Amino acid sequence: MPRKAKKAHFPESAPVGEIEGNCPLCGRLLAPPANRHHLLPLSRGGKGTPTVLLHKICHDKIHSVLTEAELKRSYHTIEALQQQEEIATFIRWVQKKPPEFYDRSARRKK
Ligand SMILES: [Zn+2]
Ligand SMILES: [Zn+2]
Repeated sequence: MPRKAKKAHFPESAPVGEIEGNCPLCGRLLAPPANRHHLLPLSRGGKGTPTVLLHKICHDKIHSVLTEAELKRSYHTIEALQQQEEIATFIRWVQKKPPEFYDRSARRKK
């Protein structure tokens, strides 16, 4: 049977009108698809805590590299995320792409 693309594990997809400014992770202009990242994971007590609007590709990268436990423990700031080795490499790569770029292969969940 035909299967629709798997739904992202983060429910909040930003309405297009809300997508403006720059992505705090990669610094590029925001463009759809984009959605919100809880700096402190929702499942780890992050309800009501600050969120940042990121490119979907940037957001996916964060969650493909880090677990929620790691996010909570060491990576609950943008600065810490940007310094994480794999994410730093990703940022250098994605900065050469157009803001709308979204590559499904960037999401490599084991
Ligand atoms: Zn970005
Ligand atoms: Zn997130």
